[in-house]
Amino acid sequence: MKAIIIGSGLGGLLSAAKLSKEGYDVEVFERLPVIGGRFTNFDHKGFQLSTGALHMLPHGPTGPLAQLLKDVGVNVEIVRKKPVAVIRIPRKRGDTDYKYGHKDLLFEDFKTPFSIINRIKLIYYVISTRKNPPSGRSFEQWCREHIAQDWTYRISDAFFGWALSLRAADVPVEEGFAIIENLYHFGGPGVPMGGCKAITDALADVVRANGGTIYTSAEVSELKVEDGKVTGIIVDGEVHNADLVLSDIGHPATAKLIGEDTGVEGVDNYAKRASELKPSAGIKICLSSDKPLIGHGGVLLTPYAKRVNGINEVTNVDPSLAPEGKHLTMAHQCVHWDDMKDLDREIELGLEDLKDIFAGKEYEVLLIQSYSNDWPVNRSPSGADIKNKTPIPNLYVVGDGAKGKGGIEVEGIALGIRNSMQDILI
Ligand code: FAD
Repeated sequence: MKAIIIGSGLGGLLSAAKLSKEGYDVEVFERLPVIGGRFTNFDHKGFQLSTGALHMLPHGPTGPLAQLLKDVGVNVEIVRKKPVAVIRIPRKRGDTDYKYGHKDLLFEDFKTPFSIINRIKLIYYVISTRKNPPSGRSFEQWCREHIAQDWTYRISDAFFGWALSLRAADVPVEEGFAIIENLYHFGGPGVPMGGCKAITDALADVVRANGGTIYTSAEVSELKVEDGKVTGIIVDGEVHNADLVLSDIGHPATAKLIGEDTGVEGVDNYAKRASELKPSAGIKICLSSDKPLIGHGGVLLTPYAKRVNGINEVTNVDPSLAPEGKHLTMAHQCVHWDDMKDLDREIELGLEDLKDIFAGKEYEVLLIQSYSNDWPVNRSPSGADIKNKTPIPNLYVVGDGAKGKGGIEVEGIALGIRNSMQDILI
C-alpha cells in the first residue's frame, strides 16, 4: 500500500513515521526547502529559535505526543521540571498591573485569589462538572454565570491565551473542560532536549529508516480524484499515484487541492465549512539575557499583563538552546481576530508588558515573530475542528487543522493522528 503525505510539519512526519512503521510505502512532499514546518529550529545569533512552538510540549513526557513518539521509535528526551507553571500577580491586593511590584503563585495555588464563597463553588463545580460537563456557550460565559470574579476572567484568558492562542470568550466551554480534564490526566508541560527540531528530525530519520522518502521544495498543486477516491497528487505537473493521502495543510487548503468539479457528494459543503474556520493568531517575542529572567523551566502565566499571556525560559532545562552563558526567554500573546489590523500596536503593548514584568532586569529583544493566516498558531481554533475525515474516504487531514478533543496544540495533533490511524489501520 502506498501512502502520500502532503507537508512535513509535525503532523505530516508523525503520520509518515506511523504508516511506514506499519508497512506502508510512504512519500512525503514538502513545499519548503526544509522540513518541520512550525515545529523546527533555526539559528539566530547562536540561539535556537523556533519557527512556531515555544519548544514546549503541553503534557511533557507523559502526554499523547510523547506516547506516539515512543510508539514509532523516537527517543528524544522530554524533561518536565518543577515548578511546571507559576502565576505572576501584583504584590498588593487590588492592584491591577505589575508596575508597583509583583509576587508569584504556584499554579496549584491558583485558587488563592478567589473569594471564599467562590473557592467553595469551585470545589463543587470541579466535582459536579466531571459527570455533567457543561455545553453550548463559551468558557468565559460559563464563568460569568457561575464564578463571576475578575480573577476568573484573568486566569482563564492567560491560560487559554498561552495554551490555545484564544481568549476564553472564544473557547467553547466543552473544549475548555476537556482540556482541563486532560491536564489532570496527562500532567503538565515539558521541554524536548534540542527543542522542536530534535523531534521533527528524529521523525524524519524514522521515516527514512523505514524505507520512506521525503521530498523538499516539492509543492503539491492538485489532488487527483477519480470515481470518488483520491488516486494521487500532482507536483510540478507530474502525477504521483497513491492508495491513501494524508494532508498536513489544514482543511481549507486541502479543499482547494480537491478542486470543484469532482462529482463527489459532500465536497461543496466540506469546502464551505472549511472556509469558515478562523486560524488562531499570535505574537512571539524572543529575549536574550545573561542572567535568568524567570529562573525555572516551567511556564510563567501573566494574567495582569495587557497582552502577554505567558512566558517560558527553556534554557533552564536545555542550556544548548542558547550560546554559552546566555538565556533564551520567549513570551507569547494571543492576537484576537479584531486586533489583526494593527499588529504594530499589539507588538508595542507586548513589549510594554515585558518592561513591567521584568522591571529592573537586563535583556535584549532578539526577534519578534507574528503568526496568522497561512502560518498561524493553530490552523483551526481549538473546539471548532472538523475532525480528520474528508468527504473522500481515502483522504485524511492531520496536523493542527484537525486536533483530537481536549488536545492542546501538538498534543491535539497526536490525538487526531491516533484517531485517524484507528480508522486507517483496521
Ligand atoms: P505545519 O507545521 O504548518 O506543517 C505543514 C507543512 O506543510 C509546512 O511545512 C508547509 O510548508 C507544508 N505545505 C503547505 N502547503 C503545502 C503544499 N501544497 N505542498 C507541500 N507542502 C505544503 N504547540 C505546542 O505544542 N507548544 C507550544 O509551545 C506552541 N507554541 C506555539 C507558538 C507559536 C507562535 C506558534 C505559531 C505555534 C505554536 N504551537 C505550539 C503550535 C505548533 O507549533 C503547531 O500546532 C504545529 O507545529 C503544527 O504542525 P502541523 O504539522 O499541523 O503544520
